[in-house]
Amino acid sequence: MTDTRGILTATASDLGIRIAARELTSVEVTQAFLDQIGRVDGRVRAFLHVDAAGALAQAAAVDARLDAGEQLGPLAGVPLALKDLFCTQGVPTTAGSKILEGWRPPYSATVTERLRAAGIVILGKTNLDEFAMGSSTENSAYGTTHNPWDLDRIPGGSGGGSAAALAAFEAPLAIGTDTGGSIRQPGSVTGTVGVKPTYGGTSRYGVIAMASSLDQPGPCARTVLDAALLHEVIGGHDPLDSTSIDAPVPPVVDAARSGDVTGLRIGVVKELGGEGYAPGVEQRFREALGLLEEAGAEIVEVSCPHFVSALGAYYLIMPSEVSSNLARYDAMRYGLRVGDDGTRSAEEVMNLTRDAGFGEEVKRRIIIGTYALSSGYYDAYYGSAQKVRRLIAQDFDRAFGTVDVLVSPSTPTTAFRIGERTADPLAMYKSDLCTIPSNMAGNAAGSFPCGLAPEDGLPVGFQVMAPPLADDRVYRVGAALERALAASGPAVLTDRIASTWTEA
Ligand code: GLN
Repeated sequence: MTDTRGILTATASDLGIRIAARELTSVEVTQAFLDQIGRVDGRVRAFLHVDAAGALAQAAAVDARLDAGEQLGPLAGVPLALKDLFCTQGVPTTAGSKILEGWRPPYSATVTERLRAAGIVILGKTNLDEFAMGSSTENSAYGTTHNPWDLDRIPGGSGGGSAAALAAFEAPLAIGTDTGGSIRQPGSVTGTVGVKPTYGGTSRYGVIAMASSLDQPGPCARTVLDAALLHEVIGGHDPLDSTSIDAPVPPVVDAARSGDVTGLRIGVVKELGGEGYAPGVEQRFREALGLLEEAGAEIVEVSCPHFVSALGAYYLIMPSEVSSNLARYDAMRYGLRVGDDGTRSAEEVMNLTRDAGFGEEVKRRIIIGTYALSSGYYDAYYGSAQKVRRLIAQDFDRAFGTVDVLVSPSTPTTAFRIGERTADPLAMYKSDLCTIPSNMAGNAAGSFPCGLAPEDGLPVGFQVMAPPLADDRVYRVGAALERALAASGPAVLTDRIASTWTEA
């Protein structure tokens, strides 16, 4: 008999090794995760769509290739949860919105294709805030995902479904997108690892667009090595994405295996801390710095004065791009169409459809963006925000002249309660204070678990930011931290809730 808990709690890299060695079959591993989803997802609600038949067929195909002696990549046969923002040919793709309900894309995203080519088995599509707009997954048109550490709390957003699936052992790997923090903040509040690659490092082709100059797909996992292995699979140049960088994937796997931070200069961003940050978040962050120092890194404080303006500039640039990207949902081409009874004009049908199909937060951003781009206001809003964006990038450039990486907490607080911030958009937006600067500058950044806050026992995330195309440094520091923490507790933070979510 197979040890189901052993499969569910194993790392992806370990599962890959055991599948390649034919100790386990991909079908058996995939079935274990499908069973787990069936057992727990009624409570967690991480998935919008489970593709059991597709996953098992894919797993059987990988098994057949391995049985025939083919050499496949290190994650071949390992299952994954895919954020429902990635086009999957023939499989529902909603972006968490009613406006795309029932839509089955005629093509797949490059990331989807690369996962399949690597033999990674796609279990299904995970929940998200509508069109990836939010920090709690409460803006999904299909209900809220719950945080496996405490079901009354948010799993972060927008990629709360992917992060929660990892934390509840429903998948060993997941994929997210990060426009302002949607990989890192959910990673932070669920005790999992999430990395936003350098802008242009992973392909946006076939990813439903939110704000195109900021959006970036990236890996989510429970360990640093698993995230790096996944990053390597999805990263690299894609001619189908006009902003894709034509450069090799940085050596992220080597960095994750090494974790050597001897002599590395780590800059603590002075502006990302203090008022508004939970005491337990600050405490665990400081302790993590101590561990990195013991591991041989040099810690210095660095000022990035324009980071305090990042949130304001982001909430002009992002909605401006949202207002233009979401203009394509015109009731003619995709998904929902409301009021088309032969008596109404195309414009009336479009208005009725957009009114019924978009949720409140999406409408708010379309309105803000349309206003910011309108003539007479363009320079005052969008133009100024672009200048702030430039100043933030200069802060990073200056800092990276003296340090190798910058660090901060990933988000100011631990997971808040469901409903706590829904009535106050500004409080919700503040979840992304620490993550937005890296999107604005386009550099690499990741969130790594650094323990539980003493006051509420919930996970705290440690953010590492590196210059563009130095994504390996993010993994190097993450791996050093993971190793140092393992010396004093469980190797993986989510192992602490393994007994809650898996049966012995
Ligand atoms: N929470 C941020 C927002 O609401 C970031 C979203 C994202 O990264 N997709 O815009």
